[in-house]
Amino acid sequence: MSDPFKNSIEQLKKASNVLNLSEETLKGLINPMRVVEVFFPVVMDNGEVKFFTGFRSQHNNTRGPFKGGLRFSPEVSESEVKALSSWMTWKCAVADVPFGGGKGGVIVDTKTLSKGELENLSRAFSRAISDVIGPEKDVPAPDMYTDGQVMEWMNDEYQKITGSKSLATFTGKPLSYGGSEGRTEATGFGGFKILEAVAEKINLVPSETSIAIQGVGNVGFYFAHFAKEAGYKIVALSDSKGAIYSEKGLDPGLVMEYKKTHGSLSGFPESKDISNEDLLLVSCDVLVPAALENVITEKNAEDIKALVVIEMANGPVDPKADEIFEKRGVIAVPDILSNSGGVTVSYFEWHQNMRNEKWSKEDVLQKLSQKMKIAFDAGWDLSIQKKLYLRTAFYVLAVERVLEAGYNKK
Ligand code: NAD
Repeated sequence: MSDPFKNSIEQLKKASNVLNLSEETLKGLINPMRVVEVFFPVVMDNGEVKFFTGFRSQHNNTRGPFKGGLRFSPEVSESEVKALSSWMTWKCAVADVPFGGGKGGVIVDTKTLSKGELENLSRAFSRAISDVIGPEKDVPAPDMYTDGQVMEWMNDEYQKITGSKSLATFTGKPLSYGGSEGRTEATGFGGFKILEAVAEKINLVPSETSIAIQGVGNVGFYFAHFAKEAGYKIVALSDSKGAIYSEKGLDPGLVMEYKKTHGSLSGFPESKDISNEDLLLVSCDVLVPAALENVITEKNAEDIKALVVIEMANGPVDPKADEIFEKRGVIAVPDILSNSGGVTVSYFEWHQNMRNEKWSKEDVLQKLSQKMKIAFDAGWDLSIQKKLYLRTAFYVLAVERVLEAGYNKK
């Protein structure tokens, strides 16, 4: 399986060729500015102290404070957080939010912890990285196996250590503790806005446009929900256990209700069960991978029928598949744009916390809608002007923005 970091470097190299950058500048764009490793004690329920290893990779802050998630998982490693932090730099630049890229995590299996131990671990990690984070330095957010509650504990601990009253050091917090309205649906809604923007460019009519979505979790579900509301036909949906197909169209709300009572999508009325591999190959106009990375490779890229692919997962199309798409003229909208709705609303949360404001959900979604459209148009126009494949255009745009902000200046 291809490595997402290597894939991202390949994209960066393509952008660097278009921009004629020196080897030295490219090196500066690939490597994080700072990576912090911490080893910290946590008191467990039995009174014993256990030590854990955590990381924070700060890739680039030329455009603003580092921004990106914290994951608690046994698979966390220095190389993984470095890779993911660079992705955040490009995502924030494309979305044009005033942040750079960061990512971090702790090597831990949260399933082995009680709630009290999880709180102790979150607070201890916050203390361990407190020197390098802060509202104007580095603003972490939830990621795999961390959530709003973990962010609340970490922010609270940060306040105790620093004496600050600010809620802006962490985003993705609960609504009752400085969180933003609209964060839950932000990524799926942002992706739907990208669908609308593509539809406008290539004249897709919603009622005549069929969509297959891999993964009906937070992102996939909200994408499906908003697309269905707008009149698009959702012909296939899936979860980790399998997929369903209906030529007539599926109602995502009813599918989720069915999943809750039956434990899977299999057997949903008036649909047929298909495999997750087949979901990618069904006859449809728009394919939305919203689950895992590297699901579209040279093995299946030729057989994909969709004309448009909107990447909602991180890195679902590998570079070989991308070359095939480019040759075939498939419009693949890259993850650094399509799933940037989440980080954009995180920016809105930070902005509200910094100014002690509280925006309504309508306000948040309307502002997000505008930002997604502006971001899409900038990359789309560049791809037309410079005759670039869409993904390359978005990387060029992101790199240009970081360089324009002064990254390679003395
Ligand atoms: P989630 O855990 O809510 O949902 C993931 C979905 O994928 C679930 O429905 C799960 O059953 C399904 N799935 C897992 N394995 C599968 C498989 N083999 N085949 C098909 N489906 C499978 O996660 P999410 O928050 O919806 O995130 C989905 C993707 O979007 C991830 O790649 C994530 O990194 C990316 N993403 C999420 C956000 C966000 O704000 N949540 C932001 C940016 C990117």
